[in-house]
Amino acid sequence: MTPLRLAIVGLGKIVRDQHLPTIAAMPAVTLVAAADPHASLDGVPHFASFDDLLRNGPPVDAVALCTPPRLRGAHAAAALAAGKHVLLEKPPAAAVSEIGPLIDAAKASGKTLFASWHARFAPAVEPARAFLAEREIRSVRVVWKEDVRVWHPGQAWIWEPGGFGVFDPGINALSIVTRILPRPFFLTRAELAFPSNRSAPIAAELDFSDVAGIAIRAEFDFRQTGTPSWDIDIETGDGRLSISAGGSKMHHDGRVLVDEKKVAYPLIYRRFVDLIARGESDVDIAPLAHVADAFMLGRRRVVDAFKE
Ligand code: NAP
Repeated sequence: MTPLRLAIVGLGKIVRDQHLPTIAAMPAVTLVAAADPHASLDGVPHFASFDDLLRNGPPVDAVALCTPPRLRGAHAAAALAAGKHVLLEKPPAAAVSEIGPLIDAAKASGKTLFASWHARFAPAVEPARAFLAEREIRSVRVVWKEDVRVWHPGQAWIWEPGGFGVFDPGINALSIVTRILPRPFFLTRAELAFPSNRSAPIAAELDFSDVAGIAIRAEFDFRQTGTPSWDIDIETGDGRLSISAGGSKMHHDGRVLVDEKKVAYPLIYRRFVDLIARGESDVDIAPLAHVADAFMLGRRRVVDAFKE
């Protein structure tokens, strides 16, 4: 099989940590170009902008869009217009209404659009979904807290409008919960804490419910120091299901059901290649819609200024 010729746009932390080692280990994908205003990779043709790459770069079949979210929609539209398959890092865009035209463009061009949610590829997610499909769910509590200085050092974009603030990690939790719960749910209340010197929240408390009236509570906080908390507890008619370590572990009433290392990115690229082979797209905006609702419905509280 001829390898998929891939270009990456945005050579930042997630690309270096996950995309590059994954692609290097995957014969089905070959990296042929990269676009980033400053960063470059040894041996890979570099372009200062995606536009320059599309105009002057080598032939590419697909692009992985890994910039800050604000740029994603425009880059995806340009890629699809140029006839490329598109892998979107999460979140798939900075505005919910950017996604519909992208789905239409993918259909019109016959190309694949894949909105990847890396947290959904964690080992506990599919077992949790199967477990919950057969049980009465009574309540859900999500605690997603980490130290922004450790996990997002120097990422000024995260504090800008469209940077998502604490929803940058929080949306990962929402991508898991929207996958494992058997019914859709909706926001009923939110409180967002904005540092006095920033345009995005540093913490959020969210209450959701569903048609059956179950309580789903989420707490996101960027001010946690030390060990991060990436935990979801679900009370069921058959005891408590606990997902921890971002989806690496799952316990049922204290009994270990899953305890595995995360290997999300090889699974993401395998799915991308698979979707392309089948001529399909995969775009679920549910996590993004919940974040948009939080900004729409959330009460704003101003808290201490954030200093890097
Ligand atoms: P990052 O380290 O700030 O990397 C973003 C890169 O995009 C930077 O090199 C940036 O360059 C570049 N860039 C900015 N404008 C560009 C443009 N117009 N064209 C091409 N490249 C441009 O951020 P990150 O942590 O990798 O996150 C990127 C995305 O991946 C975010 O949506 C994030 O939610 C997602 N993600 C991150 C993680 C993680 O652990 N960090 C995990 C999963 C997903 P400059 O720095 O010069 O502006």
